[in-house]
Amino acid sequence: MENFNGDTLESQENVRVFIRIRPLSKKEVADGNENITVCDYKENLIALKKNGEHCKPFKFDHIFGTTTAQLDMYRMIAFPIVEKALEGYNGTIFAYGQTGTGKTYTMAGNHLVPELKGIIPNTFSHIFSQISRASGEKSFVVKVTYLEIYNEDVRDLLSGDPNKKLAIRERKDIGVYVKDLMGFTVDSIESITELLNRGNKNRVTKSTLMNDISSRSHAIFTVTIESKNRLDNKTTVGKLNLVDLAGSERASRTQATGERLREASNINLSLSVLGNVISALVDGKSTHIPYRNSKLTRLLQDSLGGNSKTAMIAMVSPADIDFEESMCTLRYAARVKYIKNCVKINVEEKGLIEGFELEIAELQQKLTELSVLEQKKEQKKRERAVSAVEKEKLKQTAIEIEITERKKLELEEKMALIQKKILVGGENLLEKAQQQMFSLESSAAELEDLDRSHQQLEEQLNKKAVEKIDVEEQYSSLQEEDAGLSKKLKKIQMFIKEAKEDHSDKEREYQRDLEALFDNNKLLVRETQLANLIIDNYVPQEYLKKILSHLMWNNDTQEYQMRGVAYTGNNMRKRQTASAEAFSPVCFEMKQVYHKYPEKKREKPKRSMLKSFSAVPKTR
Ligand code: ADP
Ligand code: MG
Repeated sequence: MENFNGDTLESQENVRVFIRIRPLSKKEVADGNENITVCDYKENLIALKKNGEHCKPFKFDHIFGTTTAQLDMYRMIAFPIVEKALEGYNGTIFAYGQTGTGKTYTMAGNHLVPELKGIIPNTFSHIFSQISRASGEKSFVVKVTYLEIYNEDVRDLLSGDPNKKLAIRERKDIGVYVKDLMGFTVDSIESITELLNRGNKNRVTKSTLMNDISSRSHAIFTVTIESKNRLDNKTTVGKLNLVDLAGSERASRTQATGERLREASNINLSLSVLGNVISALVDGKSTHIPYRNSKLTRLLQDSLGGNSKTAMIAMVSPADIDFEESMCTLRYAARVKYIKNCVKINVEEKGLIEGFELEIAELQQKLTELSVLEQKKEQKKRERAVSAVEKEKLKQTAIEIEITERKKLELEEKMALIQKKILVGGENLLEKAQQQMFSLESSAAELEDLDRSHQQLEEQLNKKAVEKIDVEEQYSSLQEEDAGLSKKLKKIQMFIKEAKEDHSDKEREYQRDLEALFDNNKLLVRETQLANLIIDNYVPQEYLKKILSHLMWNNDTQEYQMRGVAYTGNNMRKRQTASAEAFSPVCFEMKQVYHKYPEKKREKPKRSMLKSFSAVPKTR
């Protein structure tokens, strides 16, 4: 049995970890692959078979077998987290695992077939169904964003230009955020589903062009639910991150060069930093958690060790050929369950709803003013109608009234648009059928309660078993003591065997990591040789010197940046001739700087210049 300490596992704040085993594919069956997973569903244990023997079993919060329905996954994993998000807590669900094990199937699924819908689309029905049932005193605003981290670049899957790279920023009041990421306010299942599809299409289009990018990128779909209660004027904001991680397999051993290589090492970077963050959190002794070392961990800092109710679903292939990868996944997931998060409700002073309400009040005020004006004009019209001399003026007034009427209509439309964004509790936002999908929710909550009390019982049982052993070991004779000691010896021998197995597991994993690092290193050396070759033969020495003296490493963005770049700018760039454009961007920026500053100032840049050196070039 795994070294399982019930005391540290079961806490409200621990990250919950689930395993899902996908069925063997037709091809795997045809190729004669065998199912190597062995599960004890009652005890939530899973082990893998190799050469007819079981490895040590791992224990998780729940194991989902090959026939588990999508909705059952939802009820058990996502339901409690989404309920909390509606109350103003943060929630995160990660899908982790080797490519082809069902991460996307579990998170997105097939939205066209109700029973194949994944967690994300089921979340929509759940949220809107709960808003429909909320009291009329409550107003809600639901907002979504959808981004992808690929090759350590962040891209907005919902923007008109999904190829544009976005920067991560941090502010004291709001924390870490993605600059210029588009957020969409949604008021129906249709509009939110349309956004999910649009984002998925942006992932898929690219994947057909370039060798399945989607399996090598991390996708984060975020739903923010703001809720305001008119009774106590309290606004809460719950943020729900639904994360489809990149494939966890080691991406080396391929003869990668250039872009493909950078990508391989960067994907390894995000996932290994995620692993490092998990290790540091579980270790308990680490004072530094390396969140800042990758974009993924920076954006999801709150989800691991922070303020979030978090679940990880680790996907496992049942096939014997995937033994090594599945073993790695189980080991990775087994560490995650020891992470403790500190969950608290987010109360906001002033949220979106308040802003919208203010806007509506202002529009209402303008409308009233226009109505008064209109009435006055109508009055004038009537007076003028009496005297025939004022016919011309009468016409003018009629036109003015028409303009006012149009303005009023515009304002009313604008107001309706804003009003649509605020969803009031009790509003019927769903078809009956969709509502019924969640009619079993109370039983889901009961299921979770049952699950928890089952675990508590199990802990008590474990404790009792330990006490029993102690009592048994109060010997009345030397003979009994001898028997007791042999029993203890056997136990210790078993522990040693387990520890040895654990050790060799870890050694194997370490060896794999090392090999992957060596492979990457070899490729990086090749890449550097190529870059040196180009520089030595094609970049004049004096330019190279200038370039090097103006480059600096930015630790925040983990990129080289060119000093004084703020003094250049695209406006100037546009005016340059086509031949200037042919220079590399670096040389080009340099030309700009040297052009702008006379010879004598070049040697030592001014302080004010230095200040902006870390500024990222503005792209407009
Ligand atoms: P990943 O996103 O992890 O690379 P996918 O979600 O694309 O994997 O799944 C790979 C294939 O396996 C898909 O054809 C998917 O339909 C199928 N699949 C995955 N999980 C299941 C499951 N639990 N039941 C049935 N088919 C599944
Ligand atoms: Mg996928």
